[in-house]
Amino acid sequence: MKHPRSDEKSQKSHLDLRALRKQMVHDQLEARGIQDCRVLKAMGSVPREAFVPENLKSNAYDDGPLPIGAAQTISQPFIVALMIEALEMRGGEHVLEIGTGSGYAAAVLGQIAANVDTVERIPELAHAAARRLKELHCENVQVHVGDGTLGWPEHAPYDAIVVAAGGPEVPDSLRQQLKVGGRLVMPVGGSRQTQELVRVRRVRTDEFQLQDLGGVRFVPLIGQEGWDSPNDF
Ligand code: SAM
Repeated sequence: MKHPRSDEKSQKSHLDLRALRKQMVHDQLEARGIQDCRVLKAMGSVPREAFVPENLKSNAYDDGPLPIGAAQTISQPFIVALMIEALEMRGGEHVLEIGTGSGYAAAVLGQIAANVDTVERIPELAHAAARRLKELHCENVQVHVGDGTLGWPEHAPYDAIVVAAGGPEVPDSLRQQLKVGGRLVMPVGGSRQTQELVRVRRVRTDEFQLQDLGGVRFVPLIGQEGWDSPNDF
């Protein structure tokens, strides 16, 4: 993966950020129980600083979400790792992400999966993410603009689906775009404050198992099979 900038000064800050990335993997991920070596390796190789606004680059490895414009956020590194680990990827999967945001999680997924479709409803975020992913040569990630509650039927079915925004329930369109044996991870809940992170496993064509992975807090999933509007709480 190519890293931004190459003059002497930026080379130094690039090295500082690389050290912070290593520290983030150790202190925020491994120390809190993330064990999947594919996830740790991917999080250790994607330059998060390339996905945050210029004035927040030195905060890229902070232990929390950061604003990315359009009232949206790039998720906390631990939450990104937790959700991707919960997808139980072994490498080579066909993956769908809903909520591209900055494109960071899509880049991490792209390090493990064979290919990633990622859908964003806000065109300016989608276009900026696509530009970044191209600059970083994440060629197996395709960004689409649309209502991700409906999934991306053209390229379904998927081995794994991850939703990076909180909806009132798991959209049926997304369940139907999972392969048998596939996993879907998303925050679900009726409250503006918190959701439960759930994993849905499609065990048979008509049978889904649901597992609660704990409380989380996400921006709303807005769309036909999500919330009506940001104020619909
Ligand atoms: N994965 C992102 C990253 O790595 O930067 C962070 C995602 S941010 C927490 C949630 C995103 O979901 C926002 O960019 C928001 O616009 C998007 N979103 C909300 N509802 C959506 C929908 N129905 N379809 C696609 N994207 C949606």
